[in-house]
Amino acid sequence: MNEIKRIELRSADLGEGMLVKRALPSRHQRMVGAWCFLDHAGPVSFAPGKGMHVGAHPHTALQTFTWLIAGEVLHKDSLGNELIIRPGQVNLMTAGRGIVHTEDSVENGGRLHAAQLWIALPEELADCEPDFAHYPELPVWHSRGVQHTLLAGAYGDLEAPTAVHSAMLGMDLFSEKGGTVNLNLNPDFEYGFLPLTGRVNVAGETYTPDEFAYLEKGSKCLVMALSADSRVLLLGGLPFDAPVQMWWNFVGHSKEAIAQAQRDWEMGDARFGDVSTAAGVAPRLMPPPLPWK
Ligand code: MN
Repeated sequence: MNEIKRIELRSADLGEGMLVKRALPSRHQRMVGAWCFLDHAGPVSFAPGKGMHVGAHPHTALQTFTWLIAGEVLHKDSLGNELIIRPGQVNLMTAGRGIVHTEDSVENGGRLHAAQLWIALPEELADCEPDFAHYPELPVWHSRGVQHTLLAGAYGDLEAPTAVHSAMLGMDLFSEKGGTVNLNLNPDFEYGFLPLTGRVNVAGETYTPDEFAYLEKGSKCLVMALSADSRVLLLGGLPFDAPVQMWWNFVGHSKEAIAQAQRDWEMGDARFGDVSTAAGVAPRLMPPPLPWK
């Protein structure tokens, strides 16, 4: 196995005091395969009257991948989808040329624990039609004290139902009483793992939820010892030739594509649509000025 690079997480504010820990992108590691964004939200118990409320915002050229561990979140988008995601489920929203969505805690004062990921679309699909899919069930198996959930890609004979567009892997590993995993890796993939709770030990080194661990391509197996009550998110994929461009909620294969998306959003262009609410149209979040000219 290759040497593991430790990447410290940083805090990010989603607004209204909702803090998350961001693993990707980092200046030390931009992507893992097509995975280009990873926020770890919670675990948190909101104060009475408080919850997560993310207003209407756009995305382009990516898929948002929500893995819910605790709590309930209401998703609404500009395609007219409206549904509640619950623990053990995945929402996969394909932005393509443009989509808008809102995310709200169902019950204020409740709990939340989630991983919010983005998957960069390959260049030929960057402007595809937007789409939304909800996956209430994923392949689950148990081995040596660890529950494995296949979130994306294939492992052994199993294939996750989530519709992704490049060779990749996503897996959740949970151990209530402690256990061991011995995973076969694809030597063509790069990998990363993030403990979401508890601790994990790999090759005599301990990792906690404060760090993202990155493994460059070439490794054939990964042996992990999970502490009691631990959960680890494992990501993998074929490395991209070059990192995609990212700014605010936009992904693009050029700065021009992102600048155009930002102009279109600011001008209310029809490529994005609106999220409708009982009161009319959800107010839109606005991006800071572009960091480049
Ligand atoms: Mn979003």
